[in-house]
Amino acid sequence: MKMKSFSNSDSPVLPLFQTFPALKEHIPHISLGRFPTPVRRMAALGKKLGHPNLYIKDDGLTGSELGGNKVRKLEFLLGDAIKKKATDVITFGAAGSNHCAATAFYANQLGLTCTSILIAQENHSYVGKNILLGAACGAELHHFSHPISAYIPGIMIYVRKLLKTGRIPYIIPMGGSNPPGIIGYVNAAFELKEQIISGYIPKPDTIFVPMGSMGTAIGLMIGLKAAGLTCKVIPVRVIEKTVANKEKFRKLFHTTVRFLQQSDSTFPNVELESQEPIIEEGYLGKGYAQYTREGKDAIDLIAYTEGIRLEGTYTGKTLAALMDYAKKPDKKEEMLLFWNTANAIDFSSLIKDVDYRRLPKAFHKYVESS
Ligand SMILES: *Cc1c(COP(=O)(O)O)cnc(C)c1O
Repeated sequence: MKMKSFSNSDSPVLPLFQTFPALKEHIPHISLGRFPTPVRRMAALGKKLGHPNLYIKDDGLTGSELGGNKVRKLEFLLGDAIKKKATDVITFGAAGSNHCAATAFYANQLGLTCTSILIAQENHSYVGKNILLGAACGAELHHFSHPISAYIPGIMIYVRKLLKTGRIPYIIPMGGSNPPGIIGYVNAAFELKEQIISGYIPKPDTIFVPMGSMGTAIGLMIGLKAAGLTCKVIPVRVIEKTVANKEKFRKLFHTTVRFLQQSDSTFPNVELESQEPIIEEGYLGKGYAQYTREGKDAIDLIAYTEGIRLEGTYTGKTLAALMDYAKKPDKKEEMLLFWNTANAIDFSSLIKDVDYRRLPKAFHKYVESS
C-alpha cells in the first residue's frame, strides 16, 4: 500500500478554517480523503415516495480507496496523533467496526501501527471483510471478551504494553467520537453550507443521520448552528441506549463546543434547545447490527431507484426513518436530506490475499461464514 505524504500544505483550506482561521493554527489536521463529497437530488426515490424534495449528501465517497463517515474524523484524529509524535494508534469497537477498519487503513498510510480491540457482534458479511481489511493494513487485532463497559481498562493493557517497548500510543475512542474527531463533522456542516451557497443543493429543512457513537450527529449540529443554518437534525438510533443517549449527547456536544472555543475564542457559543437532540427511536429493531425488515426494504429501494448501496447496521435503518417521514402529508414541503455515512468503495482487492487463519480464533467465524 502506498504511503501518504506528510505534507498537506497544498490542500485547500477547510471550510471550517476559512470561517475561523484561528482554529487552523491550533487544531491539527491531515488530508486523507476527497472533499467536498457530492450532493444530489434523489428524484427517482422521491417519485416512489411521493416526495419532490429528497437529496443525498454522499459521504460514502469521502475517500478514493475507502470512504464513509470515519474519514472526516480521522483527518483530525490522525492529524493530532502525528502532531503528538505517536507511533501507534489504539482503538476499540465491534468486530466489524467500520471505524476500526478505517483507522487501520488510514493509520497505515501514515506509517502508524494500529491496534484494534474488538468485541463480538452479530455476524454479517461486512464483518469478516472489515476484519480482513484491518489485517491487510497491518493492524494488530485483539478480541475483547469482557463487557463493553470495561473497555477503558481493556485499552490500558495495550497502552502499557506499547509504552514498555518505547512506542507512543495515541488512543482513539469508539467510533472516533471525541472532540477532535467530531470536528470532522463540524467542518462537514460548513462544507454543506458552501454547496448551498454555490447553488448545488437547496437548504435542507431536515437532515437524517445515523446515531452510533454520536459524533457524526453532534458535529453536524454544532457546525450547522455555528454556520447559521437552521436545519433540523434527526439522529436515528442504531445502537443501544447504554452507548448513546440524550444525556451523553448533550455532554459531548458541550465538551466539543468548549474545545473549539479554547482554540478560537470567536467560535460561537452554540447551544442545544432543551428538546434537542430529537432522537428517532423507532428503527433500532432488536439491537445494534440486527437488521430490520424496514431497513432491508429501504436498502433495496434506494439501490433500485438511485443505484446507491447502503448497509443494514446504520444507513438502512436511517433511510427507513427518512422514508416514513417523507410519506407524511404534512412533510411534503420540506427539503429532506439523507446524509449517507456508509463506505461506497469496493475494497475486495485489498483483502483477497489475507490468510484469516493467522488471526485470533475468535475472529474466524466472521470470515468463514461470510
Ligand atoms: C460509525 C458509523 C456511523 C455512526 O456514526 P457515529 O458518529 O458513530 O454516530 C454511521 N454509519 C456508518 C456506516 C458508520 O460506520
